[in-house]
Amino acid sequence: MKTVFVVGAGPAGLFAAQKIALSGHQVFLFNRDIKPGGLAEYGIYPLKDKMKFGLRKQFAKVLALPNVHYFGHVKIGEQGDLTLADLRAMNPAAMVFACGAQGYNALGLPGEECFGVYSAKDFVYGYNQLPPYATRDLSTGKRVAIIGMGNVAADIMRWLLRDCPDRQTEEVIVVARRGPYEAKFDKKEIEHVEEYISRQDFLRELDRIRPICEACNQDLSLEKLGESTFPFLTKTFPAEDRPKLTFRFLSSPKEVIAGPDGRIEKLVVTENNLVLRADGSTAARATDRTAVLDVDTLIFAIGDKHDPSVGLPMGPDGYATRPGPDSLKEPAYEAWDPARNESLHGIFVAGWARRASTGLVGIARHDGEEGAKKVLEYLQDAPESGELSPEALVAALQAKGATPITKQDLEILGRIEEQQARQRNLTSFKYSDDDTMLQAIQSERETLSIR
Ligand SMILES: Cc1cc2nc3c(=O)[nH]c(=O)nc-3n(C[C@H](O)[C@H](O)[C@H](O)COP(=O)(O)OP(=O)(O)OC[C@H]3O[C@@H](n4cnc5c(N)ncnc54)[C@H](O)[C@@H]3O)c2cc1C
Repeated sequence: MKTVFVVGAGPAGLFAAQKIALSGHQVFLFNRDIKPGGLAEYGIYPLKDKMKFGLRKQFAKVLALPNVHYFGHVKIGEQGDLTLADLRAMNPAAMVFACGAQGYNALGLPGEECFGVYSAKDFVYGYNQLPPYATRDLSTGKRVAIIGMGNVAADIMRWLLRDCPDRQTEEVIVVARRGPYEAKFDKKEIEHVEEYISRQDFLRELDRIRPICEACNQDLSLEKLGESTFPFLTKTFPAEDRPKLTFRFLSSPKEVIAGPDGRIEKLVVTENNLVLRADGSTAARATDRTAVLDVDTLIFAIGDKHDPSVGLPMGPDGYATRPGPDSLKEPAYEAWDPARNESLHGIFVAGWARRASTGLVGIARHDGEEGAKKVLEYLQDAPESGELSPEALVAALQAKGATPITKQDLEILGRIEEQQARQRNLTSFKYSDDDTMLQAIQSERETLSIR
């Protein structure tokens, strides 16, 4: 039996851990958050209960394996509880980094540091109750601009227009650099908010962009567009007094202007032309025309980036993995040092940590399991790991001032949150800050006299 460290307990890390543990090895699973699940717990839309409950059950099954040891609330990286060098010094037989893509692509606009401007990741983490985002000021106002037209943007529209408990939103304006055919959300995701789309504004917007889109051979008829990306165009909805969803196509954010209170008051956008590439795809090309949108909140959903402070060498698309012709046919999982042009033997990368923003939980699971297969191949000839016990690691972390969360702690926390849900008459309840969770666990441990 060898010891493998897995960093990150999202779907990729958990399912990698399962595969490695079921092959008879011991897994130490480090996770920044107290609870496991990653974006499956803290990204997936809060009302997708069935999916979340199902995934939690599968994750609990992984953690129930006796040879999987969980260390939650332990961040790996330069400013973390343990660095990559600390992990190496413990001499595991192999390591898998499945820590997702924790950064985001910034807009890089003048004025974007003012209040009311948020990355989609922070905003989603906030409404999904992930500490510390859950207690940050991520307040929204009456007129919210969202940059981006993917599924994450669709979730945020849904939250703002329908489900946010202290909803103030009167209008959500989706700002997209290209046109309606380039929307990336799945139809079933936009269907959650389609009754909010202002038909009148949408038709006016289509008229505004029609000459540019038609010059790129795009048919803006309602029938074609309805079939392709905006099914609402072929449906009717009863008139009701509700907040509205509008679209501003062929527009890229240019500047954020703050009001006297320091909060965003205006978003300046550059108007774009659409150009047809040789392969039939389209690209946005900026013009010198601008427009000003009155908004009090701006949320940008333009993709995720890897966190360099984890300590792995970075490549062009995130953590570097072994390059070469093989990586196209057979994806590379082995971490790579581009400066030395060599593999980091025994270190593997999987899930969104390997490729940011690539698809759904099922894809992250598959990637974790494929990465685990490579680890198992590697372990066949790998040197033995050092003497490692989970109890000694907990003690060492505590000696450094960290508060690692074990599987037993997770069970305690689960029971306390269930009790809280019952008391509040809710289907589920989640604490939204680490201190409260840590105190609740500690006081229950004292009651049960657990050391
Ligand atoms: C807003 C949003 C909505 C989504 N909705 C859906 C949906 O409806 N259906 C669906 O199937 N998929 C959905 N997805 C996609 C799905 O969540 C991802 O495919 C999946 O979670 C990626 O898994 P992962 O394990 O690679 O990364 P993550 O889920 O990001 O997990 C990474 C884990 O690593 C930990 N970590 C990070 N940094 C460190 C560190 N330095 N040290 C230690 N631990 C660390 C984190 O705590 C986290 O637990 C959604 C994604 C987003 C962003």
